[in-house]
Amino acid sequence: MNAIKTLIPLPTGYLFTGNYSKGNLETLSIGDYGKAKNIKADFLGYTKIIEGVQNGYCQPLTEKWVITLSTQYGCPMKCTFCDVPNLKFKGNATFEDLKAQLYNAISLFPEIKYTERLNIHFARMGEPIFNKDVLKFAKWLYNSKKQIQKDTGLRIEVVHPVLTTSLPKRYKRLEETILEWCEIKNDLYNGQAGLQFSINSTDTKQRKDMFQNMQITLEELSEIAKKMPEPISRKYTLNFAYSTDFVIDAKKVRRLFNPEKFMCKITPIHNNNACTTNGIKTVGGYDSWQPYQKPEKELRDVGFDVLVFVPSIDEEDGLVTCGNLVLGGSKLKLSENIIKIHGISR
Ligand code: SF4
Repeated sequence: MNAIKTLIPLPTGYLFTGNYSKGNLETLSIGDYGKAKNIKADFLGYTKIIEGVQNGYCQPLTEKWVITLSTQYGCPMKCTFCDVPNLKFKGNATFEDLKAQLYNAISLFPEIKYTERLNIHFARMGEPIFNKDVLKFAKWLYNSKKQIQKDTGLRIEVVHPVLTTSLPKRYKRLEETILEWCEIKNDLYNGQAGLQFSINSTDTKQRKDMFQNMQITLEELSEIAKKMPEPISRKYTLNFAYSTDFVIDAKKVRRLFNPEKFMCKITPIHNNNACTTNGIKTVGGYDSWQPYQKPEKELRDVGFDVLVFVPSIDEEDGLVTCGNLVLGGSKLKLSENIIKIHGISR
């Protein structure tokens, strides 16, 4: 196993970097507060309005463990709300790099021998859709729980991989890869896998600006969406990382996407260096329900299931949120290094 280079304790777990086949990758091994604390999703029965999420203790890792893997060395996309493009791009992480990150992440909590649910997010650094080994790795994960237990000592009840893509237009295999992931989600995992599309805004100019004209249009995505099979279990997700300047036109979303297949997720866009430099702001996004009220209601009114997820300040300052990267210059703002996960004492 490759050695961990930098290990940063955070309230919700660990952020670490390591040296792998082409250089440094950054990974998270963290807990979760639980849905009752940080989401509003009426369709799931979580109807409480979120007026900020208190810092506190995460659920035990035996109940839920979240590991976020880097899928590329840097990223060839140039999203203006992300610190990853600050790093020189050096290509895809290999299958072995993904596995080594996973094993490193598990090794950080040797006292945990069992987890009910292991969420694997392909999200930290890189655009995962470019990397065929991500799909190979997701297939391996499903079939290798016994091997993982033998290698690491961790018994996993349910493993739940989530692929989040910003939909690069220059990738010829985009549609084919999305459809292959749908098969992995529906057929192999019987629905227990996620597929998320980073949309952020429905305004064509705003989207061109924030994705530097590297993303397909919503109309093009809508054509791909028609070919996607009916989802088993959780619907496919349209992600809106939201700044109150961003436009979410619910009628347009409804015109282009079927609420039987897709749900919408709204999260605040995060306060990283890139957002500061590019003038993208989370206006009131962490303490007040007010910014989310309108888009959440309008998307619900046109028929979508809507999930609003708000991180705590500990999560934001600990850089576990998307678009942050210590290797890309993001700076931790934490004043103490105490891990606050039930059952873990460090
Ligand atoms: S948001 Fe994702 S796709 Fe965009 S630059 Fe960052 S890592 Fe790459």
